[in-house]
Amino acid sequence: MSVFRIQNTLTRQLEEFRPLEAGHARMYTCGPTVYNFAHVGNFRAYVFEDLLRRWLKFKGFRVTQVMNLTDVDDKTIRDSQAAGKPLAEFTAIYKQAFFEDVRALNVEPAEHYPAATDHVPEMIAIIQKLFDKGYAYRSEDGSVYFSIAKWPAYGKLAHLDRAGMRAGARVASDEYDKENVADFALWKAWDEKDGAVAWDSPWGRGRPGWHIECSAMSQKYLGASFDLHTGGVDNIFPHHEDEIAQSEAANGQPFATYWMHCAHLMVDGQKMSKSRGNFYTLRDVLARGYSGREVRYELLATHYRAPLNFTFASLDAARTALRRVDEFAARLADAAGNAAAGPLPGWAQAAADRFEAALDEDLNVSPALAALFDCIREGNAGLDAKLLTPADAAAVQALFKRWDGALGVLEKPAETVPEAVQALLDRRQAARAAKDWKQSDALRDDIAALGWTVKDTPKGQVATKA
Ligand SMILES: [Zn+2]
Repeated sequence: MSVFRIQNTLTRQLEEFRPLEAGHARMYTCGPTVYNFAHVGNFRAYVFEDLLRRWLKFKGFRVTQVMNLTDVDDKTIRDSQAAGKPLAEFTAIYKQAFFEDVRALNVEPAEHYPAATDHVPEMIAIIQKLFDKGYAYRSEDGSVYFSIAKWPAYGKLAHLDRAGMRAGARVASDEYDKENVADFALWKAWDEKDGAVAWDSPWGRGRPGWHIECSAMSQKYLGASFDLHTGGVDNIFPHHEDEIAQSEAANGQPFATYWMHCAHLMVDGQKMSKSRGNFYTLRDVLARGYSGREVRYELLATHYRAPLNFTFASLDAARTALRRVDEFAARLADAAGNAAAGPLPGWAQAAADRFEAALDEDLNVSPALAALFDCIREGNAGLDAKLLTPADAAAVQALFKRWDGALGVLEKPAETVPEAVQALLDRRQAARAAKDWKQSDALRDDIAALGWTVKDTPKGQVATKA
């Protein structure tokens, strides 16, 4: 068995994963800012993180994952006001939508989903510590800033050039770019733009900056030092850089050991944007008739560090790939019957080894999927030639089940046949029993018109969504 290696953004090295606590992987994944429905680019990160957590479990680690919900920041305040709703009422809508969406994508639930607004005292405690240690200062308006001049390690994740940093400059907004490296806000003094959103603090009324939220919630649920911290490449600077500075300066110990970041998602070769008309939420894609499973496959099938070009043509390809998986699974089930699994046939064992070696190499999913489809090809050839015993077929079935623990996309979700389709199926069954083939064919067409395909098998009619 090979070891799991990770490309660590912090060191720019491929490193063996070794958790601080034997056998236990603790990971923090920056979660959604709940001010809108999440788009497919956001879900790329959540699906990548899901593959990571599932792979850690495949390798035998216990996983504790924390995904925060950013329910107070510049954007949630701005848009809740535009919607004329109190902040908590506004963000509740998108929290619920987020959980529906990740369920549609078969993303395993994290162990903790802390919301920022429930952790303001923890944030104030860290800011106080930074204040006491001389890393934080209060500006004239009552906001509190982190002084990057006091923290020589600032820039180690994003590899910033410290010579270019302007001492004493400040940036108040949550998001800014590398050209504007500056002291960043830990606590923002209330101003009229914040409306009713404010908490009391030792520095006056105000609200936390975005970055301190993740430092506080990771520490509360995972401790001051933990193993993995992930997000999109957009998070490296300033969000993750600032998290490291705050956490390490406050605690005097390393923050996360491994940092992993997934690359951008493009749509039809372009950056996704509302003005280009190529901006899709998951809901938009599902409304076009694609399933969460197909979207998951599409998001999963490109290595997380490679740019992913999202197109409807590639979603169709995902559909075709999954159909091959389903057809093979059905053949295997027929061949296996009720047999107990024997040892894996040699060709399947070879595929199993390749699959594991690929994902062990920084979740290199493409060769893993290639191994899987080679296994299907060999398996189909073996079934055609009647070379597979029921025990062989059962062993390959078990291998696919194990693989699906990691991929979460192989098992076909059970389809509930709508009542209208079921009524036609019942009539068709009666027609066939009466050998009325003409009526049977007409009913098949009626069923097809409702978007379902019916197949006659030795066990009777099987309806699948077309
Ligand atoms: Zn974060």
